[in-house]
Amino acid sequence: MQNALSVSIIPYGRQSINDDDVAAVVDALRSDFLTGGPKVEEFECAFAARVGAKYAVAMNSATSALHVAMLVGGVKPGDRVVTSPNTFLASANCAAFVGAIPDFSDIDPISGNLDPIALERGWRDDTRAVVAVAYAGQPCDMPAIAQIARAQGAVVIEDACHGVGSALFHAGRVWPVGGHPWADITIFSFHPVKTMTTGEGGMLVTNNAAWAAEAKRLRSHGVERCEFTGLGADTDPELAERGPWYYEMQALGWNYRITDIQCALGLSQLARLDEFIARRRAIVGRYDQAFRNLHWLARQGVCPPAKPELTSWHLYTVQIDFTALCKTRTEVMHELRAKGVGSQVLYIPVHLQPWYRKTYGYAKGKCPKAENFYRRSLSLPLFPAMGDEDINRVVEAVLSLGNRCI
Ligand SMILES: *Cc1c(COP(=O)(O)O)cnc(C)c1O
Repeated sequence: MQNALSVSIIPYGRQSINDDDVAAVVDALRSDFLTGGPKVEEFECAFAARVGAKYAVAMNSATSALHVAMLVGGVKPGDRVVTSPNTFLASANCAAFVGAIPDFSDIDPISGNLDPIALERGWRDDTRAVVAVAYAGQPCDMPAIAQIARAQGAVVIEDACHGVGSALFHAGRVWPVGGHPWADITIFSFHPVKTMTTGEGGMLVTNNAAWAAEAKRLRSHGVERCEFTGLGADTDPELAERGPWYYEMQALGWNYRITDIQCALGLSQLARLDEFIARRRAIVGRYDQAFRNLHWLARQGVCPPAKPELTSWHLYTVQIDFTALCKTRTEVMHELRAKGVGSQVLYIPVHLQPWYRKTYGYAKGKCPKAENFYRRSLSLPLFPAMGDEDINRVVEAVLSLGNRCI
């Protein structure tokens, strides 16, 4: 290490903010609206157009959007909601928010995504929704998942928090995530480690007009200002006078609103999305090339209908045979860190979390492929602001991981 800069740690992910992003936020701060203003709808319209969906509803996080998806999708207490164990907690927690039972189906070990065969085999009659997670940005086999779920009357929610800008290839055509017909609702996250950011933020997209309207009500206290039910006005003349002040609370809602400040940043980041994706793909290409001959490392695999060139990679996760190196994962992470390379493990299988064990009785062995994926996985730095020297540093650090067996 020659200088102070070279010992800084390259994180596994981080945002990319330029002067245009800063200017957009400053403009929003100087405008009349910090929240509830025109930037929210502008961002929603631009985002819906980008992903090819009819409606987009922006919220303060993808977690909120997943909760709202459960509500508009009609998931009720006691219903079962099946998701992948190889995901962030929120993909499963959303089911528990509405009193449903989060359940897990095992993954395909190549893609790290839900395996449609396992999903069908383990299907239970009380399953009301499937939350299909696009791990690392790679879409699941959505046509197969939708066929299984819809035959049973279940709602398909695609958790595309990793997959802003991804697409899949099916029946000779490219179908964008958010705009293909095999998800009823698609969720995106704009947390700073994700592909584009609003600080905190999320988006629910759907082609269902009634669900989009309901999602907008639920994000703001269940309040409706246009389409009234008039419930109570038949017997109370005071309520019949619906003056300009009038509003109705028609459902129990939350404050899941996003601000104009965040949406101004979102619009600016959306304009840079193609550039972000191109850079991510280029970095993945460099890593894949550099790591192709390591017998103790397996690169991220891609399964149809996903294609590498249609995936906007959020993570670069490799599978390492730590026993072949005679090292623990902790030792490998320390060794990388000493060379200025951060790494992360994504994810601990959700069903093995203490709360899931004690609440639902889940235990090791429930999803062996996901458990094995977790045991060997390590995510390396991947973000558009990485320079070529950062990429080289990661490559060299991985290639020089010593083998202690010999
Ligand atoms: C980040 C993430 C979420 C939650 O997103 P927030 O915007 O942080 O609430 C949900 N699911 C997956 C797969 C994620 O990666």
